[in-house]
Amino acid sequence: MKYDFPKLDLHLHLDGSMLPESAWEMAKERNIKLPADNIDDFKKFIVVTADCRSVNEYLERFEMPLQIMQDSSAISRTAKELVELLAGQGLAYAEIRFAPQLHTRNGLTQKDAIEAVIDGINKGIENCPSIKIGVICCTMSVGPETANMEENLETVRLAKDYLGKGICGIDLAGAEGIVPLKNFHPIFDLAKELGIPFTCHAGDSQGPDTVRDAMDFGSKRIGHGHHIFDDKELCKSAIKEGVTLEICPTSNIQCQSQPSYEEHPAKKLFDMGMNITINTDNMILSDINLDKEYDRCLNQMGFEYKDLIKMNINSVKASFMPEEEKQPLIERLEKYYK
Ligand SMILES: [Zn+2]
Repeated sequence: MKYDFPKLDLHLHLDGSMLPESAWEMAKERNIKLPADNIDDFKKFIVVTADCRSVNEYLERFEMPLQIMQDSSAISRTAKELVELLAGQGLAYAEIRFAPQLHTRNGLTQKDAIEAVIDGINKGIENCPSIKIGVICCTMSVGPETANMEENLETVRLAKDYLGKGICGIDLAGAEGIVPLKNFHPIFDLAKELGIPFTCHAGDSQGPDTVRDAMDFGSKRIGHGHHIFDDKELCKSAIKEGVTLEICPTSNIQCQSQPSYEEHPAKKLFDMGMNITINTDNMILSDINLDKEYDRCLNQMGFEYKDLIKMNINSVKASFMPEEEKQPLIERLEKYYK
């Protein structure tokens, strides 16, 4: 179904959202070895199938797009095309996230990568002025926190330099559960010191303890976070603190961090009073868009139409967009309650 209210996506990774045709073309231009010899097989390779067994296996699917996005022109093109894709789907606002440190294999600096993304976003918005975009810089969990703390802190400092100039916040993404999430606190200590808004991946493949760690960092937004449901006391504190969960239903099913749409606790959490939002995580990799996610919400997850409006209002409130832009968008959404 096509949903015509202004839609928001707060949790969307750039490297999981590269158009297959563009990936094909750019890989060829760069002499990158392709895993298929025709575009149809290549598309099948790019899109995650149901055989993906864990978050960590899912993360391996990012290798191809990352291999391609090691120069400014590939990064910029991917960002531009994603903005155009989102605008075409009727999104009013999206936060696109990426990890600058994953684009430095061929000599780019993190700063170069950030500038390339901002350049692409600006070009996309120029073509599609109906959409607004914020960029979140991801720090990465790739092993013990000491493995890349320097790179992570550099990401935070750069995010500060570009805050309000394309960048709207930071995140921590990557493998969960190698070391306790709380070990990554220096990232969030610095973000707080510098006044950078942040969200944090937690409670996806791992249990509610990781959500508690993210909340202890001071995070009012949690990437995924659905396993908070396993700890009712923590749910109560999260509701009291106004924490917002960035739920990405299809991603959770594909990574098998939830057994099915029907058993996903999002609606139960919503009914408890938690601020739930619906997002896509990886649009191309997961072969998903917000309209398809909303269909799942209505047909399999127990949500009603009005809940979709409420969840988009939640997205506006939790977003890192300038405060003065929030109220007009909330008013536009409220008209759809009737
Ligand atoms: Zn994510």
